[in-house]
Amino acid sequence: MGLKIYLNGKLVEASEAKISVFDHGLLYGDGVFEGIRSYGSLVFKLKEHVDRLYESAHTILLKIPLSKQAMTQAVVSTLKANKLTDAYIRLVVTRGPGDLGLDPRKCEKATLFIITDKIVLYPDRVYKDGMEIVTVPTPRNLPEALNPQIKSLNYLNNILAKIEATNAGVQEALMLSAHGYVAECTGDNIFIVKDGALLTPPPYAGLLRGITRGCVMDLARKARVAVREEMMTRHDLYNAEECFLTGTAAEIAPIVKIDGRVIGAGKPGKVTLKLMRNFRALTKVDGVKY
Ligand code: PMP
Repeated sequence: MGLKIYLNGKLVEASEAKISVFDHGLLYGDGVFEGIRSYGSLVFKLKEHVDRLYESAHTILLKIPLSKQAMTQAVVSTLKANKLTDAYIRLVVTRGPGDLGLDPRKCEKATLFIITDKIVLYPDRVYKDGMEIVTVPTPRNLPEALNPQIKSLNYLNNILAKIEATNAGVQEALMLSAHGYVAECTGDNIFIVKDGALLTPPPYAGLLRGITRGCVMDLARKARVAVREEMMTRHDLYNAEECFLTGTAAEIAPIVKIDGRVIGAGKPGKVTLKLMRNFRALTKVDGVKY
């Protein structure tokens, strides 16, 4: 028996988990999603992810066919059916099948699926030695045109940036706003440490307010590290003491080189390492048990 997928209310084999070619999620990227993780049979920040999914859906006028409580239950049942204790969970709601026009009113029923799988992480050495990133030519979408708080199925902006990073021989891309301020990476938020304080760009720079981002800001405050949201330039990054990325899949990933400039001592810094330890500890105790 292979992987079981939750699709529109039923658990089906992965090979049977199929959706229509008329689904507007596929035709137009008209839909929303979340990436969630579980650690030792605890789903980390499940409420925050479910809340964000429903907010994204609300803004695009997409009605999710389940209550939040039923959605939480569906995530748990899918994890249990696959006997996964440490998993990456992908929750997707699309506009559903319609016709070839854009009009979402033609889509009668949203499509909902949940994939639970093993986690694909950066290799261990990224966490031990740190990672290199480069600034890419593609700017982050204008928040005035497409608000990045809508975690939609439209990821081409980030995919183009990812391709540019790969072409440059690195794993991750630093994306700037259209005005040249630091925004975020393709699927992760960015932080620096300067004069001992933790700084990260504000959401209006054009970034997704990541759940890991919020969690790391809380952990830093608890560790008596000052935390500020500030607009920053590449110059600020190049001259930071430490730098790291945050995201559900990446957790906290240290950055040691940006556009060829060595950051700080060229290895994961003290504040970064402390936050990594505190974050790992939190994932062991905080979560929805299943
Ligand atoms: N930015 C973008 C564009 C993302 O897609 C993600 C996560 N998928 C993040 C940041 C990090 O958010 P979170 O910590 O909630 O995973």
